[in-house]
Amino acid sequence: MKPLVKVLAVGLVAAGVGVVAGRMLAPQPKPIPTEPLGRLQYGNDLFAQGKLLPQPVDEMTRYKLETEGQKPFAIVVSCADSRVPPELIFNQGLGDLFVVRVAGNIVNAENLASIEYAVEHLKVPLLVVLGHTHCGAVKAAVSGKHLKGHLPQLVAHIEPVVKRVHATHPHLKGDALTERVIQENVRHTLQTIYQRSAIVRSYYEQGKLKFAGGVYQLREGKVEWLKLSEPFDSSPEEHPSSTGSSGGHEGYAPASHP
Ligand SMILES: [Zn+2]
Repeated sequence: MKPLVKVLAVGLVAAGVGVVAGRMLAPQPKPIPTEPLGRLQYGNDLFAQGKLLPQPVDEMTRYKLETEGQKPFAIVVSCADSRVPPELIFNQGLGDLFVVRVAGNIVNAENLASIEYAVEHLKVPLLVVLGHTHCGAVKAAVSGKHLKGHLPQLVAHIEPVVKRVHATHPHLKGDALTERVIQENVRHTLQTIYQRSAIVRSYYEQGKLKFAGGVYQLREGKVEWLKLSEPFDSSPEEHPSSTGSSGGHEGYAPASHP
Protein backbone atom coordinates (compact mmCIF):
# COMPACT_ATOMS: atom_id res chain seq x y z
CA MET A 1 0.00 0.00 0.00
CA LYS A 2 1.36 3.42 -0.94
CA PRO A 3 1.99 5.63 2.11
CA LEU A 4 -0.79 8.12 1.26
CA VAL A 5 -3.35 5.34 0.65
CA LYS A 6 -2.27 3.64 3.86
CA VAL A 7 -2.76 6.85 5.87
CA LEU A 8 -6.21 7.31 4.29
CA ALA A 9 -7.25 3.72 5.04
CA VAL A 10 -6.06 3.95 8.65
CA GLY A 11 -7.92 7.25 9.02
CA LEU A 12 -11.15 5.79 7.67
CA VAL A 13 -10.94 2.75 9.93
CA ALA A 14 -10.26 5.05 12.88
CA ALA A 15 -13.37 7.03 11.91
CA GLY A 16 -15.46 3.86 12.12
CA VAL A 17 -15.83 3.42 8.35
CA GLY A 18 -15.05 -0.07 7.08
CA VAL A 19 -13.00 -0.50 3.91
CA VAL A 20 -13.36 -3.90 2.26
CA ALA A 21 -11.50 -4.68 -0.95
CA GLY A 22 -11.46 -1.02 -1.92
CA ARG A 23 -15.21 -0.61 -1.30
CA MET A 24 -16.47 1.68 1.46
CA LEU A 25 -19.19 0.43 3.77
CA ALA A 26 -21.62 2.68 5.63
CA PRO A 27 -21.10 2.91 9.40
CA GLN A 28 -22.81 -0.02 11.08
CA PRO A 29 -25.92 0.81 13.18
CA LYS A 30 -25.62 0.21 16.91
CA PRO A 31 -26.64 -3.35 17.85
CA ILE A 32 -30.09 -3.67 19.47
CA PRO A 33 -29.57 -4.19 23.21
CA THR A 34 -30.67 -7.55 24.61
CA GLU A 35 -31.18 -6.31 28.17
CA PRO A 36 -34.88 -5.36 28.77
CA LEU A 37 -34.52 -1.70 29.75
CA GLY A 38 -31.98 -1.15 27.00
CA ARG A 39 -34.44 -2.61 24.47
CA LEU A 40 -37.11 -0.15 25.60
CA GLN A 41 -34.70 2.79 25.45
CA TYR A 42 -33.51 1.75 22.01
CA GLY A 43 -37.09 1.44 20.74
CA ASN A 44 -38.06 4.78 22.24
CA ASP A 45 -35.08 6.46 20.55
CA LEU A 46 -36.27 5.10 17.20
CA PHE A 47 -39.82 6.29 17.90
CA ALA A 48 -38.72 9.78 18.90
CA GLN A 49 -36.63 10.05 15.72
CA GLY A 50 -39.54 8.83 13.59
CA LYS A 51 -37.53 5.77 12.51
CA LEU A 52 -39.75 2.93 13.71
CA LEU A 53 -38.64 -0.57 12.79
CA PRO A 54 -41.50 -2.66 11.37
CA GLN A 55 -42.82 -5.25 13.84
CA PRO A 56 -44.01 -8.60 12.46
CA VAL A 57 -47.77 -9.16 12.71
CA ASP A 58 -48.01 -11.87 10.04
CA GLU A 59 -49.82 -15.19 10.43
CA MET A 60 -46.66 -17.13 11.29
CA THR A 61 -45.87 -14.70 14.11
CA ARG A 62 -49.39 -14.99 15.44
CA TYR A 63 -49.31 -18.79 15.12
CA LYS A 64 -46.05 -19.00 17.07
CA LEU A 65 -47.44 -16.76 19.82
CA GLU A 66 -50.54 -18.93 20.00
CA THR A 67 -48.76 -22.26 20.12
CA GLU A 68 -45.65 -21.31 22.07
CA GLY A 69 -47.32 -18.79 24.37
CA GLN A 70 -46.29 -15.30 25.33
CA LYS A 71 -42.90 -14.34 26.71
CA PRO A 72 -43.04 -10.57 27.20
CA PHE A 73 -39.82 -8.96 28.42
CA ALA A 74 -41.38 -6.02 30.29
CA ILE A 75 -44.51 -5.13 32.21
CA VAL A 76 -45.56 -1.56 31.49
CA VAL A 77 -48.04 0.13 33.82
CA SER A 78 -49.11 3.24 31.95
CA CYS A 79 -51.87 5.79 31.65
CA ALA A 80 -54.86 5.01 29.43
CA ASP A 81 -54.23 8.28 27.55
CA SER A 82 -54.54 7.71 23.79
CA ARG A 83 -51.29 9.58 23.17
CA VAL A 84 -49.18 7.12 25.18
CA PRO A 85 -49.48 3.62 23.63
CA PRO A 86 -46.53 1.64 25.08
CA GLU A 87 -46.05 -0.72 22.12
CA LEU A 88 -45.74 2.24 19.77
CA ILE A 89 -43.56 4.55 21.85
CA PHE A 90 -41.17 1.69 22.63
CA ASN A 91 -41.36 0.29 19.08
CA GLN A 92 -42.28 -3.23 20.23
CA GLY A 93 -44.36 -5.94 18.64
CA LEU A 94 -46.91 -8.61 19.48
CA GLY A 95 -45.97 -10.54 22.61
CA ASP A 96 -43.21 -8.14 23.71
CA LEU A 97 -44.91 -6.06 26.40
CA PHE A 98 -47.38 -6.98 29.14
CA VAL A 99 -49.31 -3.73 29.37
CA VAL A 100 -51.54 -2.63 32.25
CA ARG A 101 -53.24 0.65 31.46
CA VAL A 102 -55.39 2.79 33.67
CA ALA A 103 -55.80 6.57 33.78
CA GLY A 104 -53.15 8.13 35.98
CA ASN A 105 -51.05 4.92 35.97
CA ILE A 106 -52.30 4.12 39.45
CA VAL A 107 -52.38 0.67 41.00
CA ASN A 108 -55.45 -1.05 42.47
CA ALA A 109 -56.14 -4.66 43.41
CA GLU A 110 -57.11 -5.72 39.89
CA ASN A 111 -54.12 -4.32 38.08
CA LEU A 112 -51.86 -5.52 40.89
CA ALA A 113 -53.18 -9.02 40.17
CA SER A 114 -52.31 -8.56 36.48
CA ILE A 115 -48.77 -7.52 37.44
CA GLU A 116 -48.43 -10.51 39.79
CA TYR A 117 -49.57 -12.85 37.01
CA ALA A 118 -46.90 -11.47 34.69
CA VAL A 119 -44.20 -11.72 37.35
CA GLU A 120 -45.02 -15.14 38.71
CA HIS A 121 -46.37 -17.01 35.70
CA LEU A 122 -44.63 -15.31 32.79
CA LYS A 123 -41.38 -14.51 34.66
CA VAL A 124 -41.22 -11.03 33.17
CA PRO A 125 -37.89 -9.52 34.33
CA LEU A 126 -38.72 -5.78 34.21
CA LEU A 127 -41.52 -3.67 35.65
CA VAL A 128 -41.91 -0.16 34.25
CA VAL A 129 -44.32 2.47 35.53
CA LEU A 130 -44.80 5.12 32.91
CA GLY A 131 -46.35 8.52 33.51
CA HIS A 132 -46.61 11.25 30.92
CA THR A 133 -46.63 15.02 30.66
CA HIS A 134 -50.04 16.78 30.56
CA CYS A 135 -51.72 13.83 32.31
CA GLY A 136 -55.42 14.65 32.77
CA ALA A 137 -55.81 12.39 35.81
CA VAL A 138 -52.91 14.09 37.58
CA LYS A 139 -54.20 17.54 36.60
CA ALA A 140 -57.60 16.61 38.08
CA ALA A 141 -55.96 15.53 41.34
CA VAL A 142 -53.87 18.72 41.51
CA SER A 143 -56.88 20.96 40.78
CA GLY A 144 -58.90 19.47 43.65
CA LYS A 145 -62.11 20.17 41.70
CA HIS A 146 -65.30 18.17 42.25
CA LEU A 147 -65.49 15.21 39.89
CA LYS A 148 -68.39 13.05 38.77
CA GLY A 149 -69.02 9.32 38.46
CA HIS A 150 -66.16 7.03 39.45
CA LEU A 151 -63.47 9.62 38.84
CA PRO A 152 -63.11 10.51 42.56
CA GLN A 153 -62.12 6.87 43.24
CA LEU A 154 -59.37 7.08 40.65
CA VAL A 155 -58.08 10.48 41.69
CA ALA A 156 -58.02 9.37 45.35
CA HIS A 157 -54.93 7.29 44.43
CA ILE A 158 -53.08 10.44 43.34
CA GLU A 159 -54.27 12.85 46.07
CA PRO A 160 -51.74 11.64 48.70
CA VAL A 161 -48.97 12.37 46.18
CA VAL A 162 -50.32 15.90 45.63
CA LYS A 163 -50.43 16.47 49.40
CA ARG A 164 -46.88 15.26 49.83
CA VAL A 165 -45.54 17.42 47.00
CA HIS A 166 -47.38 20.44 48.48
CA ALA A 167 -45.65 19.73 51.79
CA THR A 168 -42.17 19.07 50.44
CA HIS A 169 -42.20 21.66 47.62
CA PRO A 170 -44.52 24.47 48.80
CA HIS A 171 -43.05 26.91 46.25
CA LEU A 172 -44.27 24.85 43.25
CA LYS A 173 -47.33 26.13 41.38
CA GLY A 174 -49.08 25.55 38.05
CA ASP A 175 -47.23 23.46 35.47
CA ALA A 176 -44.18 22.98 37.68
CA LEU A 177 -46.38 21.50 40.41
CA THR A 178 -48.17 19.20 37.96
CA GLU A 179 -44.86 18.08 36.47
CA ARG A 180 -43.51 17.21 39.90
CA VAL A 181 -46.68 15.33 40.87
CA ILE A 182 -46.45 13.35 37.61
CA GLN A 183 -42.91 12.25 38.55
CA GLU A 184 -43.76 11.49 42.16
CA ASN A 185 -46.88 9.62 41.12
CA VAL A 186 -44.71 7.21 39.10
CA ARG A 187 -42.49 6.62 42.14
CA HIS A 188 -45.57 6.28 44.33
CA THR A 189 -47.08 3.61 42.07
CA LEU A 190 -43.83 1.62 42.08
CA GLN A 191 -43.63 1.95 45.85
CA THR A 192 -47.27 0.88 46.23
CA ILE A 193 -46.76 -2.18 44.04
CA TYR A 194 -43.72 -3.11 46.11
CA GLN A 195 -45.49 -2.58 49.43
CA ARG A 196 -48.72 -4.32 48.54
CA SER A 197 -47.46 -7.35 46.64
CA ALA A 198 -45.48 -10.02 48.45
CA ILE A 199 -45.01 -11.78 45.09
CA VAL A 200 -43.46 -8.72 43.46
CA ARG A 201 -41.28 -8.07 46.53
CA SER A 202 -40.01 -11.60 46.52
CA TYR A 203 -38.98 -11.52 42.84
CA TYR A 204 -37.46 -8.06 43.24
CA GLU A 205 -35.44 -9.07 46.29
CA GLN A 206 -34.17 -12.20 44.55
CA GLY A 207 -32.94 -9.99 41.71
CA LYS A 208 -35.34 -11.63 39.25
CA LEU A 209 -37.33 -8.44 38.68
CA LYS A 210 -36.04 -4.93 38.10
CA PHE A 211 -37.98 -1.69 38.48
CA ALA A 212 -37.90 1.38 36.27
CA GLY A 213 -39.98 4.54 36.19
CA GLY A 214 -40.28 7.11 33.46
CA VAL A 215 -42.25 10.09 32.22
CA TYR A 216 -43.12 10.19 28.54
CA GLN A 217 -42.78 13.66 27.05
CA LEU A 218 -45.74 14.16 24.72
CA ARG A 219 -44.09 16.59 22.32
CA GLU A 220 -40.57 15.17 22.19
CA GLY A 221 -41.74 11.55 22.11
CA LYS A 222 -39.00 10.69 24.60
CA VAL A 223 -39.23 8.87 27.89
CA GLU A 224 -37.28 10.61 30.66
CA TRP A 225 -36.19 7.90 33.10
CA LEU A 226 -36.53 8.70 36.76
CA LYS A 227 -33.97 8.12 39.43
CA LEU A 228 -35.42 5.72 41.99
CA SER A 229 -34.45 5.35 45.62
CA GLU A 230 -33.70 1.66 45.87
CA PRO A 231 -33.99 -0.60 47.71
CA PHE A 232 -37.66 0.09 48.25
CA ASP A 233 -39.22 0.20 51.66
CA SER A 234 -41.87 -2.38 52.49
CA SER A 235 -43.15 -0.58 55.61
CA PRO A 236 -46.65 0.94 55.31
CA GLU A 237 -45.34 4.52 55.23
CA GLU A 238 -43.38 5.52 52.15
CA HIS A 239 -39.72 6.19 52.80
CA PRO A 240 -39.19 9.99 52.76
CA SER A 241 -36.07 9.74 50.58
CA SER A 242 -38.05 8.09 47.79
CA THR A 243 -39.89 11.32 47.14
CA GLY A 244 -36.78 13.31 46.24
CA SER A 245 -35.92 16.55 47.96
CA SER A 246 -36.19 19.50 45.61
CA GLY A 247 -37.80 20.69 42.40
CA GLY A 248 -36.63 20.74 38.81
CA HIS A 249 -35.20 17.86 36.86
CA GLU A 250 -32.62 16.73 39.36
CA GLY A 251 -34.72 13.62 39.92
CA TYR A 252 -33.91 12.37 36.46
CA ALA A 253 -31.17 9.84 36.04
CA PRO A 254 -29.06 9.35 32.93
CA ALA A 255 -31.08 7.36 30.42
CA SER A 256 -29.16 4.16 31.05
CA HIS A 257 -29.59 4.25 34.83
CA PRO A 258 -33.19 4.51 35.96
ZN1 LIG B 1 -52.60 10.42 31.80
